[in-house]
Amino acid sequence: MTNPVFEKIAIIGAGLIGASIARATRAYGAAETVSLHDADLDVRQRAAAIDLGKIADDLATAVADADCVILCVPVGALKTVAAETVPLMKAGAILTDVGSVKGQAADALAAAADGRVHIIPGHPIAGTEQSGPEAGFETLFRNAWHILTPLEIDGEEYAEAVSRLESVWTQLGATVETMDAARHDRVLAITSHLPHLIAFNIVATAFDMETVEQGEVVKYSAGGFRDFTRIAASDPVMWRDVFLNNKDAVLECLGRFSEDLAALQRAIRWGDGETLFNEFTRARSIRKAIIDAGQDSGAVNFGRNQRKGDGDEKA
Ligand code: NAP
Repeated sequence: MTNPVFEKIAIIGAGLIGASIARATRAYGAAETVSLHDADLDVRQRAAAIDLGKIADDLATAVADADCVILCVPVGALKTVAAETVPLMKAGAILTDVGSVKGQAADALAAAADGRVHIIPGHPIAGTEQSGPEAGFETLFRNAWHILTPLEIDGEEYAEAVSRLESVWTQLGATVETMDAARHDRVLAITSHLPHLIAFNIVATAFDMETVEQGEVVKYSAGGFRDFTRIAASDPVMWRDVFLNNKDAVLECLGRFSEDLAALQRAIRWGDGETLFNEFTRARSIRKAIIDAGQDSGAVNFGRNQRKGDGDEKA
């Protein structure tokens, strides 16, 4: 094992993200021991069957002596789970999470603070549309961002804890970025939350049409619609919690999006080809800038045609 950052990491919630952290921690040696707990017996049994680490039947056993506890439960469960977890943790240990919304998650974690443990909220910008322990894989965080939103706490001890947590995520393959929770939620509202909302909505609209068009929506769905259906297959509990907990930022983006969509609608209605052409040209140049910045593949269909069966598409 190469330089484990911690002796023991405990993971609470053994779904896609928890299982991926468990696999990556063991594969890349970020800790000597990994223990997992999930509130659901069926999930614990499935996690044990695929050898994710030590599966604990109760929270106290999982958390005992852990240097770092990572909460991998839906955002709506964070407050309860954090309140149950903190009193079981050893003094000086780190409590972090992976919730897709950071303002509410930070509040949930901070509400459980007892002055003995270091609370450092976080969010890996990596995932898929799948859920459950079997969906986890060790390379999920490789070349992905991991955003930490530390609390406003001064002092060397807290700074040292943040730095150790950064080392864990770096060892799992991620690039760590630190930012303010409110800023995280505004950025993710437009880059992740709104696109998911649009996907959920377009698939629902098409499904309603499908009953009219007798299967043609599915039969002739080309890449564009197929991609929406993949994103819309994401976990309903997770996404319900994202929208309930990032309400303001999402509504702000949605308002601007609706105005821009109405402008396109108007251009179509009035045959305003110039507006349509200009908007589409601008969008195309933004995509080109993303590729030029090395943030995505310029290959046709994201290069999927060359790696059919890889099964590693990311949401
Ligand atoms: P998941 O596959 O559904 O796993 C979540 C697990 O937590 C489930 O096994 C769930 O059990 C369990 N759980 C729920 N309440 C619990 C509790 N009180 N105590 C212990 N376990 C509990 O979801 P996921 O995709 O890994 O998401 C987990 C977190 O990661 C969420 O906060 C999400 O916002 C964040 N995240 C997800 C992605 C993504 O792409 N999926 C990306 C980045 C961050 P039940 O299923 O029985 O409820």
